[in-house]
Amino acid sequence: MQKLVVLTGAGISAESGIRTFRDMGGLWEEYDIMEVASPEGWEKNPVLVQKFYNERRKQLLESEPNRAHRTLVELEKYFDVEIITQNIDDLHERAGSKKVLHLHGELRKAQSTRYPELVYEIDGWEIREDDRCEKGFPLRPHVVWFGELVPAMDSAVEISMSADIFVIIGTSLNVYPAAGLVDYTPDGIPIYLIDPEDIQYYRKQDIKIIKEKAGKGTGVLFEELTGNKLSF
Ligand code: NAD
Repeated sequence: MQKLVVLTGAGISAESGIRTFRDMGGLWEEYDIMEVASPEGWEKNPVLVQKFYNERRKQLLESEPNRAHRTLVELEKYFDVEIITQNIDDLHERAGSKKVLHLHGELRKAQSTRYPELVYEIDGWEIREDDRCEKGFPLRPHVVWFGELVPAMDSAVEISMSADIFVIIGTSLNVYPAAGLVDYTPDGIPIYLIDPEDIQYYRKQDIKIIKEKAGKGTGVLFEELTGNKLSF
């Protein structure tokens, strides 16, 4: 089976009702992104940061995977699909995708503020102020903030290097190092980009643009790659 590697960003979850932040002019659900997604923001106001992620988690529990997430699952019948996502939501997993690598962490998990390797599933939607890791330290969201290292990057590079086809969906390609992954793909492989907006794209290699929202765009991709029509 050919390997289909898919890099997804906030745009793939937009049709599930989860807003991207570029669309909001730098705000993410009315919050200044640097206040809630940076170590400095956490130092300054951990209560605000927990509130923000608790709200996002609650919203996620009320959201469902959309047609784009389901189409990527359907493609597993034809390809060895590996997803590298910048999203912290779990909509790929809930749709049924088997191989999902989260570059920026997972909203439904918490990690120790002192021992980041201690990671816990969150029961429900809240990290409470008095929640502690097994060594007695407070918990924070298991999310990679701006300025922090991206521990899954090496695996993501390896996956990108092994691609036969590479697909980019719903990312402004503004956040590094994720945006640079496409540069690790083998020369000459087909690369597709699905996004309703024009994305600044610098690579010389031909790239096939599908200028549609993710739900419709993945349908177009499915037909092109498999020659079949989706049944949903
Ligand atoms: P981004 O907000 O920078 O860009 C979103 C992209 O999605 C834009 O190019 C936009 O044109 C496109 N888009 C909007 N609606 C779309 C649709 N219906 N279908 C397809 N594309 C659509 O997002 P990013 O590049 O992923 O980077 C933002 C960072 O924010 C990431 O690190 C991510 O962790 C985080 N984030 C995550 C979520 C989530 O988990 N769902 C949501 C917002 C932000």
